Amino acid sequence: MMISVFPAGPVETNAYILACTDTKKAWIIDAPKDCAEELIAEINLEGLSVEKIVLTHSHWDHIADLAELKKKFGCPVVVHREDVGNVEHPGSDGLSLYFPIEGVIPDQILEGTEILTLGNMQIQVIHTPGHSPGCICFYIPEEKTLISGDTLFRGCMGRVDLPTSEPSRMWESLLILSNLPGDTKVYPGHGGSTSIAQESWMKDAEKRFS
Ligand SMILES: [Zn+2]
Ligand SMILES: [Zn+2]
Repeated sequence: MMISVFPAGPVETNAYILACTDTKKAWIIDAPKDCAEELIAEINLEGLSVEKIVLTHSHWDHIADLAELKKKFGCPVVVHREDVGNVEHPGSDGLSLYFPIEGVIPDQILEGTEILTLGNMQIQVIHTPGHSPGCICFYIPEEKTLISGDTLFRGCMGRVDLPTSEPSRMWESLLILSNLPGDTKVYPGHGGSTSIAQESWMKDAEKRFS
């Protein structure tokens, strides 16, 4: 497995390239503003073939360059069912756009329980609503890797005060993530990487229900 991170845009949103080293097949994960040039350079340099553009969720800072990347690679765009609306009509989630964003019709809509294949890798989709209704994480057990979007950051969770946020669902989502193996490396939607063990505060989510 190869994973590269490209922070871009006004709020330093992480785009990732995730690739199977055996087959050179790759996904682009999230599409922040002005990430396209760097991503394309890396993909050419490594000789990767992009199979999908997958979205951890539909907030503006994760979809700004989506239309451009889809045109460039002509590959399917993949998103969870509950976040389709804002991919098609950016800004319809009630968050102000600071610049125009072109909508995209997704090609593959996930329910959040799928196991997807990337080359020789099996990738589990985990639905983690809360920050937005259609937040998903990508878990690769064999590689002890989780791509967590804006659900889990190093030291904290994503915001739950946004128009489509649902705090109660967020704590349920964090409980699911807290039960992954401690040595799972976590790559968030903003900031540096961490591990499940390092974010043991998530276990406290249980107490919030009692
Ligand atoms: Zn977000
Ligand atoms: Zn974000």
